[in-house]
Amino acid sequence: MFEDLKEYAKENSVPIIKDEGLVFLLDSIKKYNVKSCLEVGTAIGYSAIRMASLGVGVTTLERSIDSYNLALKNIKKYDLENKIEAVLIDALEYTPTKTFDLIFIDAAKAQNKKFFLRFTPFLNPHGIVIVDNLNFHGLTDEDPMNIKSKNLRSLVRKINEFKEWLKDEENYKTSFVDNGDGMSISIKL
Ligand code: SAH
Ligand code: MG
Repeated sequence: MFEDLKEYAKENSVPIIKDEGLVFLLDSIKKYNVKSCLEVGTAIGYSAIRMASLGVGVTTLERSIDSYNLALKNIKKYDLENKIEAVLIDALEYTPTKTFDLIFIDAAKAQNKKFFLRFTPFLNPHGIVIVDNLNFHGLTDEDPMNIKSKNLRSLVRKINEFKEWLKDEENYKTSFVDNGDGMSISIKL
């Protein structure tokens, strides 16, 4: 199960969630009894399919039409059309029509704070927010001087600023884990 999706992602360099990160995501879903999720960043539908396979109802947002079409195909293949609503949209233009137990942020890494602010009003009481790729391949611990590309340096700085901001958000209790590519979990107080 799911090996075809992992294989496709590997061959086509699609940045799907890492195995360790997925374990953390799925364990959190069980621990906090998550029934519904808003996912920002569908790609080929891998993480959405893995969550929906646990019975979670997923609304997932994707702005690339090619990825969206692939996701639709994969969702159909896994017979999860009744569990996953895939939406082709730029997430910064999407307004939810319902509330969710989990918001999983896994899209453009420089926009984490914008996504967080836009979607947390739609989080249920005691809901959770999980953000992926906060270590960004280990670069967030790197001395900025050692990151030669200016764009990459700026992205890494944004991710670190987001982490600082999130840590101090007083309506949430946040922990950071090193699973996969680094993730945060924030529990709404
Ligand atoms: N969650 C997926 C991986 C997502 S990769 C998994 O683990 O299986 C990140 C995806 O976010 C890419 O497909 C990219 O096109 C999409 N994305 C980036 N910025 C976005 C935005 N503003 N709105 C919607 N999708 C976005
Ligand atoms: Mg990710």
